[in-house]
Amino acid sequence: MTESFSAQRGLVFNIQKFSVNDGPGIRTAVFIKGCPLRCKWCANPESQSRRIQIAWDETRCIHCRKCVMTCPEYAVTQKRDDSDGPIVRSIKIDEKKCSGCQICVRGCPAKALSAEGEWKTVDEVFAICMQDLPFYEESGGGVTLSGGEVLSSPDFAVALMERLKTEGIHIALETTGFAAPEVFDRVTDLADLLLFDMKHWNEKGHIEGTGVSNLPILSNMKRAVEKGTNVLPRIPVIPGFNDTLEDAAGLSARLNEIGVAQAQLLPFHQFGENKYHHLGKTYEYSQVPAYHPEDLAEYREVFVKNGIKAFF
Ligand code: SF4
Ligand code: SF4
Repeated sequence: MTESFSAQRGLVFNIQKFSVNDGPGIRTAVFIKGCPLRCKWCANPESQSRRIQIAWDETRCIHCRKCVMTCPEYAVTQKRDDSDGPIVRSIKIDEKKCSGCQICVRGCPAKALSAEGEWKTVDEVFAICMQDLPFYEESGGGVTLSGGEVLSSPDFAVALMERLKTEGIHIALETTGFAAPEVFDRVTDLADLLLFDMKHWNEKGHIEGTGVSNLPILSNMKRAVEKGTNVLPRIPVIPGFNDTLEDAAGLSARLNEIGVAQAQLLPFHQFGENKYHHLGKTYEYSQVPAYHPEDLAEYREVFVKNGIKAFF
């Protein structure tokens, strides 16, 4: 049976308990698959597709070829490459053919294959979130919905948020803000806090780095602020993309136009690199050094001079 997104079912790729980086207090972060952006530096490449994906760990694989022989969709192939000397074998999964049945995962004798994404009902996710209710109450925490892009699964997100609301749980939403205004409003009206990604200040740069325009994003952010929603812009500072002082000035100007006086700066890191390898994808930032807050002191100062309380 092919499963799909609905008000009662969503494709979740991680539920992280005791999270302290996704809003106030101790939180449970629920990560939903599917995102319309294709940020080249994305730390969660498994979050982008709206389908279950199969990851392959070459350090575990014993090259028995069982996955190749048992896949009912003929989606798995084994490649041989001896162009650089010794033969290197790798397992490739054709995502267009893969149905997500996970026969290969269950049959792999070396546990070298794993599924990214699991269909879960609202009831199931709600029950997991409720397990930590005492911690939310004690710490002023709650639940954060993240992705991927939560706005890509609006029915599931709204159903889950309405359940959480009935228990008075604080809800944060981590979002790119890229959605039609009516979808954006429907979901974000239920959130107590928007952790709102802001990636570039001009449209051309935004399209180059993410594949989409920033105009609907900025417009949605402005509307949320005007409605009185608690918005915290978060800016990933990415080498060669938005890390010049001119970029800092441009981002500050946008924030001033929108009417937000604070922003969190997220220095670039390479935490997602292994995931790219496991999914057979190319990681364009493998040779790019990470940033640390001390590298970005001057960058932060530009925001401060423009009236934005920027912090790490
Ligand atoms: S079944 Fe597992 S161990 Fe065997 S080739 Fe496939 S991934 Fe490697
Ligand atoms: S999940 Fe199913 S269809 Fe996809 S590669 Fe594995 S066996 Fe083939």
